[in-house]
Amino acid sequence: MPELPEVEALAAFLRERAAGRIVVRSDVAAISAVKTFDPPLIALNGLAVTGAGRYGKFLDLQVDGLHLITHLSRGGWLQWRDSLPPAPPKPGRGPLAFRLHLAPNPDAPNPDDPDDGSTAGFDLTEMGTQKRLAVYLVRDPLDVPGIARLGPDAMQVSLADFAALLAANRAQLKGVLTSQSVIAGIGNAYSDEILHAARLSPFAIAARLTEAQVSTLYAAMRQTLADAVHRSVGQRAATLKSEKRSGLAVHARTGLPCPVCGDTIREVSFADKSLQYCPTCQTGGKGLADRRLSRLVK
Ligand SMILES: [Zn+2]
Repeated sequence: MPELPEVEALAAFLRERAAGRIVVRSDVAAISAVKTFDPPLIALNGLAVTGAGRYGKFLDLQVDGLHLITHLSRGGWLQWRDSLPPAPPKPGRGPLAFRLHLAPNPDAPNPDDPDDGSTAGFDLTEMGTQKRLAVYLVRDPLDVPGIARLGPDAMQVSLADFAALLAANRAQLKGVLTSQSVIAGIGNAYSDEILHAARLSPFAIAARLTEAQVSTLYAAMRQTLADAVHRSVGQRAATLKSEKRSGLAVHARTGLPCPVCGDTIREVSFADKSLQYCPTCQTGGKGLADRRLSRLVK
């Protein structure tokens, strides 16, 4: 799942590759992905892409005063295409959800542009059976309910505000860090990485952290995300996923040695997800109960 660093990198990529181009048309392959109807998608046609940005894990393509906003969810991705077929895709088949055709900018031609009359642009695709990728076309980003509910951005929140958010929250750190309405941008992978860097248990209660632990967690959050943004920005959209995987210390590394202490990375499963942690670095050497398994055993 793309999180703050990957979405930041996709926005930077689109500012470089898409800005200035003219929208030719959009193709909707998965009708359920499009969540808005006013303005209609056809309103984009003929307008110029003016920029791209990010709200939490939402990607915002700015098109002459309109915002084409995407939430890639767990299995979604953006694929840039230097040449798109002119024929519309067949709906409901394969991973393609949405396609945006972009004509070259007449004022600043790009040497990568095909000269056969085809358009460049991007595909939004989604793997897996849970189709949760969402596309919104709005006049104001705050018209997207998920954006209106976002807490402060993880890369912008101050230490004082972060400390206040934690002090008011009696939930476990893993849940607090991944709750977009508390703090925006962090998902399952980077929350594991941040908690490992801060040497805190994912099950520690936010409101019970000491002042020193809050400062450590804040610094770990900033450093982990800044490092990941640094590694990701400049990557082509196609190589972002492998770049993310190569930078992880604990997430998705169950059974492998901790790069800090050499202990074996453990896993806790919950609902349809799992978290990874290092017992020596984070939980005083103790294993955390697997709540899914312990429920089955009872
Ligand atoms: Zn360790």
